[in-house]
Amino acid sequence: MTDARVLRDLGEHPVWIRMENISKRYGSRPVLTEVDVCFRPGRVTAVLGPNGAGKTTLLKMLLGLVRPDRGCITVGEKALDGDPAYRQEIGYMPQLPHFPDNLTGEELAAMLDDVRGFVGEPDESLTRAFDLGRELAKPFRNLSGGNRQKLNAALAFRYRSPVLILDEPTAGLDPVAARILKARVRRERDDGRTVLMTSHDLGHLEALADDVVFLLEGRVRFEGEVSRLLEITQQAELEGAIAAFLMEHGASGADGLEGVA
Ligand code: ADP
Repeated sequence: MTDARVLRDLGEHPVWIRMENISKRYGSRPVLTEVDVCFRPGRVTAVLGPNGAGKTTLLKMLLGLVRPDRGCITVGEKALDGDPAYRQEIGYMPQLPHFPDNLTGEELAAMLDDVRGFVGEPDESLTRAFDLGRELAKPFRNLSGGNRQKLNAALAFRYRSPVLILDEPTAGLDPVAARILKARVRRERDDGRTVLMTSHDLGHLEALADDVVFLLEGRVRFEGEVSRLLEITQQAELEGAIAAFLMEHGASGADGLEGVA
């Protein structure tokens, strides 16, 4: 169930994401197989798994960029059936944003406002926290890698979306900026948003994630609380838990664990 802290400050309704019996093949190769998972509001869920496990494909499905061959996805009340309206519910921070790089940060923000049909006062607090100020007047291509990533984050959090999908959000950020972003993710979570993230930095993930969805060869091998994963692997830290999990279940032929979806 949703935590009591949910709904404290969320202007929108909390949004559950349900993926039911999702399968996807590329040619003859299965990429996701019978994936049944639920992403809860007021929680940060880490989507984990080795390279090629299907993480990106899963996130792309939620963004409507990849269609499942089978199964059903619902975001809040809406089934993903080709109508892109539900995407208004999602703030997305891509790993590598493909912004038109001749545009300045200000122009990119205006363009996104336009594309989303956003009316009202956007949330620019992350822009201020990152002290992006003058950087917003420079073309994207002239920004340093760190400032590009800060702008990428600021744009993802701009719309107070009830769902946040963050793909490697702390990659390329200096420690101060990473700390600011992590505090912001926690606040969004505490305000009842549904946060999904991937990261290769298990330290950052450990500091943020409440729940884990662990994919192996396109199948969900664990879905549940981080504390439960630590418990069943008898590890104190996420890194050890994942290593233990992979060693026990291997990259092939794993049949799942007790408590594993
Ligand atoms: P991850 O993000 O966990 O590394 P991906 O979802 O990117 O995994 O990829 C899962 C598998 O699907 C990989 O074997 C990858 O090569 C394959 N794949 C991903 N996208 C495509 C595509 N557009 N066409 C063919 N195969 C793809």
